[in-house]
Amino acid sequence: MTSQVVSSWGNVISAEHAIVQLASRHQPFPDISPGTSVLPYGNGRSYGDSCLNVGGALLQTRSLDRFIAFDTESGSLVCESGVLLADILRVAVPRGWFVPVTPGTQFVTVGGAIANDVHGKNHHHTGTFARHVRRLELLRSDGQRIECSASENSEWFAATVGGLGLTGAITQAEIQLRRIAGPLMDVETIRFQNLDEFLALCAESDQDFEYTVAWIDCLEQGRQLGRGLLQRANHIESPSTDLRPRPRQRSVPFTPPFSLVNAASLRVFNAAYYHRQRGARNRRISRFEPFFYPLDNVLHWNRLYGPRGFYQYQCVIPSAGGRDAAEALLKTIARSGLGSMLAVLKLFGALSSPGMLSFPRQGITLALDFPNRGERLERLFKELDHIVQSAGGRLYPAKDGRMPGSLFRSGYPRWTEFTRFIDPRCSSSFWRRVTEGA
Ligand SMILES: Cc1cc2nc3c(=O)[nH]c(=O)nc-3n(C[C@H](O)[C@H](O)[C@H](O)COP(=O)(O)OP(=O)(O)OC[C@H]3O[C@@H](n4cnc5c(N)ncnc54)[C@H](O)[C@@H]3O)c2cc1C
Repeated sequence: MTSQVVSSWGNVISAEHAIVQLASRHQPFPDISPGTSVLPYGNGRSYGDSCLNVGGALLQTRSLDRFIAFDTESGSLVCESGVLLADILRVAVPRGWFVPVTPGTQFVTVGGAIANDVHGKNHHHTGTFARHVRRLELLRSDGQRIECSASENSEWFAATVGGLGLTGAITQAEIQLRRIAGPLMDVETIRFQNLDEFLALCAESDQDFEYTVAWIDCLEQGRQLGRGLLQRANHIESPSTDLRPRPRQRSVPFTPPFSLVNAASLRVFNAAYYHRQRGARNRRISRFEPFFYPLDNVLHWNRLYGPRGFYQYQCVIPSAGGRDAAEALLKTIARSGLGSMLAVLKLFGALSSPGMLSFPRQGITLALDFPNRGERLERLFKELDHIVQSAGGRLYPAKDGRMPGSLFRSGYPRWTEFTRFIDPRCSSSFWRRVTEGA
């Protein structure tokens, strides 16, 4: 066992952890000193404390990076849990397959994608990642290996997908990939003036477009409250024979002494971004990377927020009352002037999520980054929490580093049922925080 300072993507929390490695999927669960808790760790792309275990150990899984079987006829892939989605894409895209669901970065592990039951721009069409996991193997700290799927040991499956790493270590999984004709996307970008126009555009697009997502200008108020750009896209057949992904280009080499994201830079960025295309509609053919992973092009972009880091606030509000609650959230955020350029709006569809603690449910989801401004920001978050809770919504643990336990417990009513499946040796900073005193 070694020790190391580990921080998550938002860089708000940074703490010394004991580190243990899971070097092979055949290895038994590592010995950890009695009284020390442990948490499986993927690639640390969660924003807050759900991938941290301050005062305890992290079980690193990135060495589990082998492909076990890939049937290029059926698209069934069996791989170890430390494999990155980027690794899968490198092998699968040239063979006409794509990951069924992808978050906004390809640098997440399969284990992390399952443990947070991640969603993508195709949620309305395809649901969450775990819907495409055919089976997985869970290694418990007592040495037991549980093979589970939606039909076998199904209660273990429901607890482990979206289970925040607390049921044990996922060692391998079988995933059903999605057929594609090539690496290209047909992408249309459409300007909208406000929230109602966004909802009308989603209603018009969700049937014919596999992917939809909107960027919003979180500074605008009044009649332009919620103005933004909707992107809708489909995979298309590729006239190109060059199937190689483009290399990554830029990097933020160090953390500046203060956040480069502030009121002035935000206003300039938002206005320029909203007007970046001439007409109200623009259509282009592009490779899949800039559409799915615009931020992966700038390595370490999270450093732009300076040494105090940043929070992301992602909520989902059920469809009934979702529009009014989203309007209230946007008004509150615009008034505060505290948001950032990364503000995303999407409608989740009706396909149910398989995990007891999966985040997505049908409704409207809003995700915004906020530079860490201490007390001032926490006051804003409390106002947002109130709107979310009153509308029956919930926050996403993968993005969270501060939600009150009461909001977690009201948003995830199955949390008590879930506790039966927690591995007695596993814990996380997030879990202790949101269940403390309950
Ligand atoms: C730029 C960016 C964009 C993003 N966009 C989206 C998005 O669109 N949609 C979305 O849903 N998420 C999104 N995320 C969040 C990200 O997809 C999740 O946090 C994901 O779970 C991170 O995976 P990871 O491998 O880095 O896991 P980590 O962050 O290291 O861990 C995440 C969780 O998985 C558990 N875990 C990891 N490996 C294992 C294992 N082998 N066995 C058991 N448990 C394990 C950990 O204990 C922890 O609870 C985004 C993140 C970034 C940085």
